[in-house]
Amino acid sequence: MRFSEKTILITGAGSGIGRATAEFLAREGTAELLLVDKDLHAIGSLELPCGVHCLEGDVSNEGFWQSARLGDIDHAVVNAGIAGTGAIQDLDFSEWRRVLSVNLDGAFLTLRSALRSMRGGGSIVAVASAAAIKAERGIAAYGASKAAVIQLFRIAAKEAAERDIRVNIIAPGGVETPIWDDLPMFRSRAAQIGRAAAFAEMAAMATPLKRYATPEEIAKQIAFLLSDACRNVTGSVFLSDGGYSL
Ligand code: NAD
Repeated sequence: MRFSEKTILITGAGSGIGRATAEFLAREGTAELLLVDKDLHAIGSLELPCGVHCLEGDVSNEGFWQSARLGDIDHAVVNAGIAGTGAIQDLDFSEWRRVLSVNLDGAFLTLRSALRSMRGGGSIVAVASAAAIKAERGIAAYGASKAAVIQLFRIAAKEAAERDIRVNIIAPGGVETPIWDDLPMFRSRAAQIGRAAAFAEMAAMATPLKRYATPEEIAKQIAFLLSDACRNVTGSVFLSDGGYSL
């Protein structure tokens, strides 16, 4: 699983899954990483054994992508996303738009820019979520955004196949990353019993394997889907959820 001479775009590379993916792909010999995040300090703080180009920007801003100079890229990891909760009958339209804007509009704009910057060959992985598949109360905007991401990238897989570009989706269940800190329910439980215990408690509630993934595990799976080990795989949805969606 080597990526020598490859240039790889990763969005949301400042934290969690994106950060772990940047670190893993750099160790796998990637020549150059293009790291995108709204938090420049976070991507700038990464020390990686490869060429790195940091781009500060909001993935949901079309102007950002129009001015970004990506050059030629071989692979893309469409990862940036935000959490959001709220029952449908109480959900403000502005909150619905906030989540859809980053998770769906941002994924579309990243995908379009990546496809325009790829020479042919190569592959793309989108980070969706098991929340796209399993209905749970209180996650309408998030779950709908991720379900749409899955279908958007499946369609992209069909369109891009004629250029020999593969497009796949990973749908993680719970992953121990800072995204959870944006949810008041998790923040208050973590303050009471600690982050590790709060993750373990949530995993025990609804995940048959009774554990959440680490971002490093998801990073390796993303690299697998990007790599030639999956040369015949396109349009697939790789569920990595400890059985949560069963
Ligand atoms: P995280 O909060 O740790 O990292 C997300 C990164 O994306 C941050 O660095 C943030 O600054 C960046 N970002 C957010 N909005 C952005 C925007 N508009 N423009 C540019 N950068 C932006 O979260 P994570 O858990 O690593 O999440 C990564 C992806 O994985 C997300 O799409 C998320 O929905 C998905 N996911 C996470 C989990 C989980 O349990 N952690 C489960 C399933 C799917």
